[in-house]
Amino acid sequence: MNDATFVSHLECSLSGERFPADTVQNLSQVGKPLLVRYDLEALGQHLTKDTLSKRPEELWRYREFLPVRQAANRLSLGEPRTPLLTLDHWSQSQVTVKDESRLPTGSFKARGLCLAVSMAKELGIQRVAIPTNGNAGAALAAYGSLAGMESYVFCPEDTPDVNVREIALQGAHVWKVNGYIHHCGQIVKGGLETMGWFDFSTLKEPYRIEGKKTMGLELAEQLGWTVPDVIFYPTGGGTGLIGMWKAFAELEAIGWIDSKRPRMIAVQADGCAPIVRAFEDGAEFAEEWQDATTVASGIRVPMAIGDFLILRAVRESGGFAIAVSDDSILTAQHEIAAQEGLLLGPEGAATAAAYQKALKPGLVSPDESAVRFNCGTALKYPMPAVTATIDRHSPLDFSQLDQGSAGTPV
Ligand SMILES: *Cc1c(COP(=O)(O)O)cnc(C)c1O
Repeated sequence: MNDATFVSHLECSLSGERFPADTVQNLSQVGKPLLVRYDLEALGQHLTKDTLSKRPEELWRYREFLPVRQAANRLSLGEPRTPLLTLDHWSQSQVTVKDESRLPTGSFKARGLCLAVSMAKELGIQRVAIPTNGNAGAALAAYGSLAGMESYVFCPEDTPDVNVREIALQGAHVWKVNGYIHHCGQIVKGGLETMGWFDFSTLKEPYRIEGKKTMGLELAEQLGWTVPDVIFYPTGGGTGLIGMWKAFAELEAIGWIDSKRPRMIAVQADGCAPIVRAFEDGAEFAEEWQDATTVASGIRVPMAIGDFLILRAVRESGGFAIAVSDDSILTAQHEIAAQEGLLLGPEGAATAAAYQKALKPGLVSPDESAVRFNCGTALKYPMPAVTATIDRHSPLDFSQLDQGSAGTPV
């Protein structure tokens, strides 16, 4: 049985040009991302908060806000509601972490790719390709295999082995490329005709962002249909930030939240901060960042096609963009893990470091409710080695055992 769906059309995010729904689309005529538009009035009449509250706590509970029409095309590897955790010890004020590492394949890329692959299935697409720093490729490989599609994944050559192996095990053709993620993107573009694959690059198809939108729907629902004062978001391609911003607009349109918006804070690393630079320069678009380098590989994106959408959301919300050093990222990661028992990925740790950095000059106040996003598991990243060993054949001096290293920041 198919439930009611409410997609009306697709719309260019820059020019407003319209495209029909339920057709295969990438970018608009002017080369910008397409956004999915809904008949929100009908949606608002059909669905109530009460109906929603009785459904299982998973991604597809928001199906009316999503584009997939046929229930049979809604792929699932079990996408749970992710927890909001409060860190009491580490920071000067209580801050909440939304821990997206609990999703299939260990990152919130699962939300986006779950939707994008489900829609590709509905549209009859059988071969897909993606450039990735690791997590998007892993999610594509998993959902692509679930859907019986053939997937091709291209990663920068310094992508950690664990990511590349995961992608290969999950059934994709995976290649390492001597360049950055946008160079991998050029390979995907180059193969469009010869390989006949569909381009799944960030924001080059309209549906990944709809999956990321569920983060905003879920967050508002978890907070009793309110939004926090500020959101710290680790920003690479920006789909999550743009998706949440879209979620809040749709929720207001159906009257489920009021006009209050969180201040959206785009967090980047000192070694790759094109959005921060554009924000500070007052620019509408961001220029490519040269020689990008950071331990937080999920946000190592020198050039983002949705740059103007990120900047718009940040500015309209009264937020800002901020960059933090790799040192402060690794320190925050280690301190929070040791004090709170929560091992954040470096991107999530970057939002923690950014929060602390923003507190000092008063960019945020400790009285504001803040949500920081941890978007992926730390377990796929290289970690400092522990060298403490015991020779079981020698007498052991137990008084020395507190010197065993619990791991220090590299
Ligand atoms: C992809 C990724 C990001 C950045 O997400 P965008 O929404 O594309 O900006 C942040 N953290 C992790 C772990 C990621 O995999």
